[in-house]
Amino acid sequence: MHNKTLAELSLGLQAKTYSSVELTQLFLDRINQHQQLNAYITVTPELAMAQAKVADQRLANGTADLLTGIPIAQKDIFCTQDVMTTCGSKMLANFSAPYNATVVDKFNQAGAIMLGKLNMDEFAMGSSNETSYFGAVRNPWNLNSVPGGSSGGSAAAVSARLAACATGTDTGGSIRQPAALCGITGLKPTYGRVSRYGMIAYASSLDQGGPMTRNAEDAAIVLQTMAGFDEKDSTSVDVPVPDYRAGLNKSLAGLKIGLPKEFFGEGLDENVAATLATAFDEYRRLGAEIIDITMPNLKLAIPAYYVIAPAECSANLSRFDGVRYGYRCENPVDLTDLYTRSRGEGFGKEVKRRILMGTYALSTGYYDAYYLKAQKIRRLISEDFKTALASVDVIMGPVTPSTAFGIGEKIDDPIAMYLSDIYTIAINLAGVPAMSIPAGFVAGMPVGLQLIGDYFSEDRLLNIAHQYQQVTDWHNFIPTGFE
Ligand code: GLN
Repeated sequence: MHNKTLAELSLGLQAKTYSSVELTQLFLDRINQHQQLNAYITVTPELAMAQAKVADQRLANGTADLLTGIPIAQKDIFCTQDVMTTCGSKMLANFSAPYNATVVDKFNQAGAIMLGKLNMDEFAMGSSNETSYFGAVRNPWNLNSVPGGSSGGSAAAVSARLAACATGTDTGGSIRQPAALCGITGLKPTYGRVSRYGMIAYASSLDQGGPMTRNAEDAAIVLQTMAGFDEKDSTSVDVPVPDYRAGLNKSLAGLKIGLPKEFFGEGLDENVAATLATAFDEYRRLGAEIIDITMPNLKLAIPAYYVIAPAECSANLSRFDGVRYGYRCENPVDLTDLYTRSRGEGFGKEVKRRILMGTYALSTGYYDAYYLKAQKIRRLISEDFKTALASVDVIMGPVTPSTAFGIGEKIDDPIAMYLSDIYTIAINLAGVPAMSIPAGFVAGMPVGLQLIGDYFSEDRLLNIAHQYQQVTDWHNFIPTGFE
C-alpha cells in the first residue's frame, strides 16, 4: 500500500479496499522502523489515528475529498496548533504553535491525516539538512549521503515511503534540490500562489511552500489543495486556481524548450549532464523542440541572493528575543543579557552567520552598496526570465551540480554549500515557478531535471512533467531497504 500514488490510494480508500485507520497505522509503523533516516522531528500518532477515524466516517458517508484519509506530513516550518513547530531550531524546540498555517488548515479541511512534522535545516537555511538542531537527515539512497536541504526530511520521507506526500518550502531551492537528490518530484510555485500565513519566515520575498510527491500527478493533487488566495497573507495573489489534474494530458507536440547555456558550463558534473541529455532526447520524441538560449545575468544569482536572503532573515529573526516565546536563557541579569544569551544560545552557527551578514548589508553606509545593488541585480535576473520565456515555453536545466554529496563533506565550507543551489536560486529571485523531476541515476544516486515556467504556469509545468513520466520510469524507483 505504501508504494501507491495519491490517486491510487484515494481509489483504494473510496473502494474500501483498506481504511484510513489501516493506512495510517501502516505509515506510522514504517516511520518507527526507519528512524535511522531522522526524517521526522515530531510524530503525532494519536492525532493521526483520531483524524483517520474521522476520515473513515467521511469516506463512509460520501463527503470525502481526494486527499481524505491519506497520511501526509508537514515540514516543521508550518505552524500546527498544539503540535510542536520547531523550524529545526533549539530556539523553537519548546514551541507549540497557537494556530495552524493556512496550508495546514487546507489539508485538514481536505481530510488528510497528519503523521507528524518533518526535519529541516534550521530556519530553512542550508542545502544538506545538516544544520538542524535535531540532527542530520540521511538520504534513503545512501545513508552516508545528505538528502539535500532545507526540506531534507520531506524529501527523505517521501522517497522512503514514510508519508504518501509532504510539504516543503523553497527560498532558494529547498523543495527542488532535496527532491532531486532523493529522486522525487518537487514543485516550487509562483511567489504568491500558496499562502505563507503560518509558515515561519526566512526571507519573505523569496519563501514559497509547495508539494513534494512521488510524481507530477500527485503534485497536481497536492498543489490543488495548497494553492489559492489568502487574505491573511498580503503577498498572496488573487488569481484563479486552475484544475491542475485536468490539464495533465495535453500533447507536447511543438513545445519549445529553452536550454540556457549558463546552466551547462563549468561546474556541472559530466555524468549529470549526460543524464539530462537523455531526458532532452525523450522530450524530442514527445514532439518538443530544443532551443539554445542565453541568460547572461544568471551568474549573479548567488551573490545577489546571499545579500537579499540574509538581509531579510536578519529582520525576520529579530522576533526571537527570548521574551514572548521560544528559548530563554537561564537567569538573565538584565534585558540585554536576556536578549544576547537567548539568541546566542538558541540559534545555531549557520543562522548566526546569516544574521550577521544580513545586518551588515542593511546597515547605514552599506545599504546602497550591498542591499540596493542586489535588488537591482534581482531585477536584471527577472528580466532574463521574461526575455527567455517570451521565446520559449519552458526553460530546462539541472537542479544540482552533482548527485547527493557525503554527510560532513561541505558543512565546514559555506561557499561550497551555497554553490549547490547555483541552478535553483535565480528562480526564487524572479518569483517564477519551477519543478524538479527524477531523470535518471548516476552511480545509483538520483538526478533531477528542472523545468522552469512563466508566472502562474504551474499547470503547464505539471503537464510537461506528467507527459515525461508517462514514457519514463525514473519516478517509480524505490531505494533499497524501503520497498
Ligand atoms: N540553500 C539555500 C539557503 O540556505 C536555500 C534554502 C531554502 O530554499 N530554504 O538559503
